[in-house]
Amino acid sequence: MRPFGYLRAGSVDEAVRAAAGQPGAQFLAGGTNLVDLMKLGVESPRTLIDVGRLPLDRIEELPDGGLRIGAMVRGADLAAAPAVRDRYPVLSQALLAGASGQLRNVATTGGNLLQRTRCGYFQDTAKPCNKREPGSGCPAREGTHRDLAVLGHSAHCVATQPSDMAVALAALDATVRLHGPEGERTVPAADFHRLPGDTPERDTEIRLGELLTAVDLPPPRPGARSRYRKARDRASFAFALASVAAVLTVRDGLVEYAALAFGGLAHRPWRARAAEAVLHGAPATEATFARAADAELAAAAPLRDNGFKVPLAHALAVGVLADLAGLAAHG
Ligand SMILES: Cc1cc2nc3c(=O)[nH]c(=O)nc-3n(C[C@H](O)[C@H](O)[C@H](O)COP(=O)(O)OP(=O)(O)OC[C@H]3O[C@@H](n4cnc5c(N)ncnc54)[C@H](O)[C@@H]3O)c2cc1C
Ligand code: SF4
Repeated sequence: MRPFGYLRAGSVDEAVRAAAGQPGAQFLAGGTNLVDLMKLGVESPRTLIDVGRLPLDRIEELPDGGLRIGAMVRGADLAAAPAVRDRYPVLSQALLAGASGQLRNVATTGGNLLQRTRCGYFQDTAKPCNKREPGSGCPAREGTHRDLAVLGHSAHCVATQPSDMAVALAALDATVRLHGPEGERTVPAADFHRLPGDTPERDTEIRLGELLTAVDLPPPRPGARSRYRKARDRASFAFALASVAAVLTVRDGLVEYAALAFGGLAHRPWRARAAEAVLHGAPATEATFARAADAELAAAAPLRDNGFKVPLAHALAVGVLADLAGLAAHG
């Protein structure tokens, strides 16, 4: 048994002050990831600062027509909110593709973005892992890595980022709001998660003691359609082998706007800028969509056992874009 302290924060300031004053403190939101990792001995905070009851559980309209999602909004509430379902279907679909109904009732927006990788070595304290114990090695590279990265990995870590919601937020150009001892700042959602490089212990750009307070969505683009699709080993309760979030506007048969992000392929949601460059202004046809996916996935460097993810992601991207463009074969 490892003893740990517990305190419930009554305000954002109190939570941030408590975190700054207590080395080894960690925020606890829904606990669906953190408590599991504590049981496994992967995380061992000295103090849990419970932020689950902070008044950050609202979805608010922003003056520019966007939405602000409080960090404590539960996944189930966010997926079901009419403003999200109607204006940002890709986000609602991504949430519903993740975890289970029971988990979504508890899991929060902030906790979802900050959940840790599901790499089996990371979760097994008997094994080395650079993310859990920097410098100890990465057995996944030569070991079991079927579910792991094909893009942007490093010699130090080949893990994938597990959140479905993060992939939708990257495609939507959302912004993450953070509050720390030095005040507030924002980070684009597409840049919030990091590539592993030689510091795989850092999943995101969040700084020690910072609290994620909200996620802002820009106003929806007029005429745009959006969709999330995920390939996984089981129909529920499974993380993405590959997934795609896409936002598309077509005018007079040409792609006017396209935003595409892949999940399950990298240590971060993979915003597909090379694919987007091919799409913009091109005819909205399957041939264009295939060329765009080719352009992005040319950078893939699969490991021994996960090469299947590349054609899988390609097929998902082409299928989703074709659906959004209303092409009959994928209707
Ligand atoms: C069986 C199972 C299947 C799952 N399947 C999926 C899936 O398919 N797709 C998917 O996306 N997710 C999946 N999940 C993950 C689930 O979505 C996450 O466990 C959940 O979103 C975490 O949210 P939480 O509020 O419980 O976070 P917690 O467990 O409380 O916290 C997670 C981490 O975030 C930190 N944290 C939490 N809130 C904040 C904050 N506001 N500011 C700063 N730090 C914070 C905590 O310190 C901790 O490090 C699954 C989980 C389980 C158990
Ligand atoms: S892939 Fe990353 S998380 Fe998995 S063992 Fe290697 S260093 Fe650890």
